[in-house]
Amino acid sequence: MNLILMGLPGAGKGTQAEKINEEYNIPHISTGDMFRLAIKEGTPLGKKAKEFMDQGALVPDEVTIGIVKERLSKDDCKQGFLLDGFPRTIAQAEALDELLSELGTSIDHVIHVDVPENVLVDRLTGRRVCPTCGATYHVMYNPPKQEGICDRDGSKLIQRDDDTAETVKNRLAVNIEQSQPLLDFYQNKGYLVTVDGNKDIDVVFKDIQSKIEN
Ligand code: ADP
Ligand code: ADP
Repeated sequence: MNLILMGLPGAGKGTQAEKINEEYNIPHISTGDMFRLAIKEGTPLGKKAKEFMDQGALVPDEVTIGIVKERLSKDDCKQGFLLDGFPRTIAQAEALDELLSELGTSIDHVIHVDVPENVLVDRLTGRRVCPTCGATYHVMYNPPKQEGICDRDGSKLIQRDDDTAETVKNRLAVNIEQSQPLLDFYQNKGYLVTVDGNKDIDVVFKDIQSKIEN
């Protein structure tokens, strides 16, 4: 199963990706996570990405498309993959189509997690993540069992550098502008399914399951 998760920052893509990965056992490929790892490791890619990410701007297409090509060509993607946070531009979507046809495959579903804008600032500024395993929490809506500590591995949770009130506003503005043409692109191809992301995490997941299994 080849899936793409779409939705504005804070819509719950990472949260749903964890569940989809557990249930269907397909690799979760998040361009944001790949960039954050590159920054942590201090690679040239990380240095390039950081200047854009710190401002809430998109990393240039050529850089982003390059890392996705490399990742999707790996063996573990042969049985399927889940893309999260990619594509975010039409150029990226077209490059993806081309790559998949070279690999002899195509997209099955594009899942749009739809959440009203006014909910997103709250979700993003309250988000906490585990620096070790990548698990995502929310201080109010999805708290860990022990405050500030990852349920899975006991690491101290952190706040992402770009989840500050200041950067969040710019990220939302950039993404709102870019997202509609992409939704139209996939709607026209007949791949798009939309779920209401402004419900409990488990309800959203059930809705996703029923739509992709049909
Ligand atoms: P994205 O990957 O789309 O940016 P995340 O999955 O990281 O979004 O979710 C953003 C924040 O909102 C996190 O703190 C997460 O715990 C919380 N969250 C995710 N889904 C829901 C939901 N259905 N209801 C309430 N909070 C949610
Ligand atoms: P969000 O929680 O906002 O959905 P991500 O973790 O997906 O965040 O992305 C964080 C940042 O990484 C983005 O603000 C952007 O700078 C960069 N980024 C991630 N994916 C892409 C992409 N497909 N194209 C360009 N930039 C990207």
